[in-house]
Amino acid sequence: MSVNLQTPIDYLKGVGPNRADLLKKELGIHTYQDLINLFPNRYLDRTQYYKIHQLQRNNAEVQIVGEIISIKEIAQKRGKRLVATFKDDSGTMELVWFRGQKWIRENLKLKKPYVIFGKVNWFNGVFSMPHPDMELQEDHKKNLGSAMQPIYPSTEKLSNMGITNRVINKIMQQLFLDTKGRFTESLSENILSELKLLSKSEAIFNIHFPKNQELLARAQFRLKFEELFYIQLQLILKNLIHKSKIKGLPFTQVGTYFNTFYKHHLPFELTNAQKRVLKEIRQDLGSNAQMNRLLQGDVGSGKTIVAFMSMLMALDNGYQACLMAPTEILSVQHYNGLKELSNELNIRIELLTGSSKTLKRRKIHEALENGELDILIGTHALLEDKVKFKNLGLAIIDEQHRFGVEQRSKLWRKGPSQIDQNEVNTPPTPPHILVMTATPIPRTLAMSVYGDLDISVIDELPPGRQAIKTVHRYDKNRLKVFRFIRDEIEKGRQIYIVYPLIQESEKMDYKDLMDGYESVARDFPLPKYQISIVHGKMKPADKEFEMQRFIKGETQIMVATTVIEVGVNVPNASVMIIESAERFGLSQLHQLRGRVGRGAEQSYCILMTSHKLSSDSKKRIETMCRTNDGFEIAEVDLNLRGPGDIMGTQQSGVLNLKIADIIKDKDILQSARYYAKKVLQSDPALRAEENKTILYTYQQLTKYKNIWNYIS
Ligand code: ADP
Ligand code: MG
Repeated sequence: MSVNLQTPIDYLKGVGPNRADLLKKELGIHTYQDLINLFPNRYLDRTQYYKIHQLQRNNAEVQIVGEIISIKEIAQKRGKRLVATFKDDSGTMELVWFRGQKWIRENLKLKKPYVIFGKVNWFNGVFSMPHPDMELQEDHKKNLGSAMQPIYPSTEKLSNMGITNRVINKIMQQLFLDTKGRFTESLSENILSELKLLSKSEAIFNIHFPKNQELLARAQFRLKFEELFYIQLQLILKNLIHKSKIKGLPFTQVGTYFNTFYKHHLPFELTNAQKRVLKEIRQDLGSNAQMNRLLQGDVGSGKTIVAFMSMLMALDNGYQACLMAPTEILSVQHYNGLKELSNELNIRIELLTGSSKTLKRRKIHEALENGELDILIGTHALLEDKVKFKNLGLAIIDEQHRFGVEQRSKLWRKGPSQIDQNEVNTPPTPPHILVMTATPIPRTLAMSVYGDLDISVIDELPPGRQAIKTVHRYDKNRLKVFRFIRDEIEKGRQIYIVYPLIQESEKMDYKDLMDGYESVARDFPLPKYQISIVHGKMKPADKEFEMQRFIKGETQIMVATTVIEVGVNVPNASVMIIESAERFGLSQLHQLRGRVGRGAEQSYCILMTSHKLSSDSKKRIETMCRTNDGFEIAEVDLNLRGPGDIMGTQQSGVLNLKIADIIKDKDILQSARYYAKKVLQSDPALRAEENKTILYTYQQLTKYKNIWNYIS
């Protein structure tokens, strides 16, 4: 009879109610299954034995075979310590206990071979080992325990309550005795043989009691693969189910708006990447399923025109479209840009932001509801309940990392309600959704985090762009930098100077910005030089005014905080100076740099820093100077910060992985995704005989929510 792995841990010999309680509370271990999945953090190599005469003062952990020849108590300031003399055929040393002495005295056997293990100290001319981990040699040999000793995750409470690593190890051994170490296979024969993976039982055994390094590595690989495989399976299935369940609004035709624009008004030839992405979007919109697509494209890669042409597809099918951007500045800019693009097309397009006047607002609401308006552009203001569309067919979100999931779902609910034959309101059909981001998400992460979104990538910049030259300068070279600025302005270029604004020290930052502004103003005096300033504390109207002066070329220098980080497009600006660059994150630096290099001129990015740089900031600055490739930068960023800070990771659960590591195990992830796709492509419902084990495992995982509870 096989043991049911859902058996509560209390039933395991050596556990009992008290320990069971602790294991539940401290490590979340409720069942046999949970215990099996408690994977060691690391392993100590116990293949090596030391002789006492080989010990050195800097020895880390060592293992020695020998006998205790005597024990004595030594009084000390507080209490006493127990000291044993331990001997092997090369010398003697001391073992020392400060706690638990009674138990030691009663249980230790003299003149019997022990295997001891622990850290060695050099003290008063002798080597000693405090609180050694020890075991009679005969037991040591009998144990399932292997040369590589697993070290399990633990908590202070557990070790204080006597549940040491050794105890967990013992419990684990008991579990293997009870189950005979036989565990149901959870991957298919095909995958096992193609990848030459260890069987489930072998893998589980070797993760807890590795026979050698090689088997340990194979066990780890197999278990990581399995973990990532089922996450990918889940994500891909979710996507498939979504596509079959969530009806979309079928945009069946490519019509006049799109064709006229494409044939007569396209301001430039689309890049191949733009064409490809448009085709992907077109396919989604033409299918019966709701589109949920993420469009990734580095700064300046030309996402806006793709967004616009997608909106034309909606209009051609009788639907409205909207575009939401995270800031007022960006919304205004999109509005102006799209208005110009649609100049000849007879499209009604409006802007709605927090600072729209009441009257204007009311008019927009009305026009939107009765269908007079085709395209609405704006900020969060679009999400208000009062904003009702007649028939919203496509919602686009720009710089999506600035918005939360909640906001995306609010847009979902703005789709057209349908009235069926019985005059009953059915729930709204969600509009198609396109989210755009210039913060490239490393592919590895995108797969795990956005596995349920479809992804398009614009991986090509419009032609004629020159790579931005990026340099690092110390504050003391400011005069030289200013001279450079003067030369560029002489050539007719415009300059950004950006100061950090980090919330915790907002006051200080604000002062930095103002000081900076004054010093710039001193070096670039009126009337020859005109300077704009934009920061978060200004009224939207004033910001807009200053922004417009810069866009029109009336000012040559824009001093700003990071409010200009996203999207702002002034092609004539060719120099980006970032002050205190060491205080910015990599993706932010990259975003800021993307404000220049938008015209035909050679552009520059100058990273100003103080002399003191942490190793992380050095790495960031170095990366910026080395490459313009957003994906490469994102990878470095991921390695520096870990996935925790990267958008979407919190919800996705990649942080709760038991054994795999999203960064270090990229290759395994890729392979897991490949196989998950392959399986589902040929057998979407997992009905085939060969996928029986996969279906079964998948059902178990969902049933007991072992790993799925974090995926929404
Ligand atoms: P982003 O992807 O950062 O939003 P934009 O859509 O703002 O980029 O485009 C950046 C600039 O490149 C704009 O001035 C735009 O007009 C221009 N552009 C976009 N696509 C092309 C193209 N295929 N050829 C030439 N210029 C282009
Ligand atoms: Mg943009």
